[in-house]
Amino acid sequence: MAKLFKYSLTSTITFILVIIIFFVPILANGNIDFSNTISNQDKEFIDNNSSKIFSWPTPGYTTITCNFGYRKAPTQGASTYHGAIDIGAPTDSKIIATFSGKIVYTGFYGANGFTIMLQNSNVVAVYSHLSPDFIVREGEYVLKNQVIGKVGPKNVYGVPNNKYKDSNGNPTNGATTGPHLHFAIKIDNVAVNPLDYV
Ligand SMILES: [Zn+2]
Repeated sequence: MAKLFKYSLTSTITFILVIIIFFVPILANGNIDFSNTISNQDKEFIDNNSSKIFSWPTPGYTTITCNFGYRKAPTQGASTYHGAIDIGAPTDSKIIATFSGKIVYTGFYGANGFTIMLQNSNVVAVYSHLSPDFIVREGEYVLKNQVIGKVGPKNVYGVPNNKYKDSNGNPTNGATTGPHLHFAIKIDNVAVNPLDYV
């Protein structure tokens, strides 16, 4: 019995070593056509982790009202460095998961207003100035293209300690002048231009 166990342990280790020695260089090469050899689940994972293949976050609305980079702050409290893109879309427009991942934040996030953050490994998508009726909860896993929220209104009421107001003194959904999606992508916590990825 002990001999049999030792034999099967040795063959298991040999098998694992063969797998590592044979397959790791192939994976590292990166030029292999995976299409016939991987499962759909693996394919989706690879898709979701390659650049230029994230879904556009606001189906049907593609006008960029503010680009990524330095700008003149459009309203008090808005940053001069815009680490995101703004997409013009009316209140209640659907927003979707740009990649599959986990919802890591839902809440009122200062100048960003009502915000959802979606994470997949070291990549985080940040959706801001949303409707407070979040469709997803923190900790939930979502699939790419799943509806996760809606574009919010300009004014929101009843948020404790909200210091953002419009010129009429009404509280706003963060530092915003009107309904739109402020969409950021962070890689290793550094904001990158979302247009390089969607
Ligand atoms: Zn913005």
